[in-house]
Amino acid sequence: MLKKEVNKVRLTSYFLEAFAVSIFIIMILFYLTIVDHVSSAGQSLENGLIAGPLFLEINGILSSISNLSLANLVLSLVTILLFLILSVYLLRTFVRLQGEALIDHLTGLYNRRFFTSTLKKEILRAKRFKHHLSIILLDIDHFKMYNDKYGHRMGDKVLKSISKILEENIRKIDTVFRYGGEEFAIIVPETRFDEVSLLAERIRYNVEVGSKRIRGIKHPVTISLGVATYKKEFKITKMVDSADQLLYEAKSAGRNVVKKAYFGS
Ligand code: GH3
Ligand code: MG
Ligand code: MG
Repeated sequence: MLKKEVNKVRLTSYFLEAFAVSIFIIMILFYLTIVDHVSSAGQSLENGLIAGPLFLEINGILSSISNLSLANLVLSLVTILLFLILSVYLLRTFVRLQGEALIDHLTGLYNRRFFTSTLKKEILRAKRFKHHLSIILLDIDHFKMYNDKYGHRMGDKVLKSISKILEENIRKIDTVFRYGGEEFAIIVPETRFDEVSLLAERIRYNVEVGSKRIRGIKHPVTISLGVATYKKEFKITKMVDSADQLLYEAKSAGRNVVKKAYFGS
């Protein structure tokens, strides 16, 4: 889902770029043919091929175009052209910034800002269709050690690798976010408590196993997870606080574990 959204923003900006170039080409073609058109249309008028009110209308337009000096015509066209290109580039920058404001640059995941708006939307859906809604908060264990032992760049590499593993292990309807430094959040809609528990356990296991393939580190990376599933009384702060509390309990229980709770009845 993430890659799709990012690609959509990129595609839109490429489309706008292509649009600007097309306008440029069209304006040049327009300029190259207008003189020709003015003279041939003038010829048609003289030969009586166009008549009536249309004649008067076209005649008026043609004579005002003919009265323009070539320098004036070129200046007007260039001004219109520059204005159009500038507008398209501004629009393109706006579209790109809009997309990038939601994305964490290091990992390519959605950021915390987008977490809140996504959760609001999912709460509305869960209420309307009376579905379950879960939040998984997870935090890399002893992450400071990777920075201290292998350097900050390797720390960044670990964050990127874990992000990739998380993306590979969620389903299409779930969304993963970089919630903080080495903390991630996953919104899991329309899924029962037992299913979310399995999902969280699978993620925990696959991070531990998958991180063994990260080149340059000898210590497998583990994560602690807090899972809160709601069926009603959805409140953003309550949901996040309970997942956070469960994550804290997972840390206290020795790390590399899942702590979960159901707030359904
Ligand atoms: P715990 O098991 O209790 O979670 O311990 P921890 O070491 O993971 O937690 P702590 O809060 O002590 O350290 C988190 C570290 O994450 C400290 C901070 O420098 C590092 N960090 C945060 N963001 C980044 C980042 O973008 N890149 C790198 N390399 N390190 C980061
Ligand atoms: Mg940590
Ligand atoms: Mg932390």
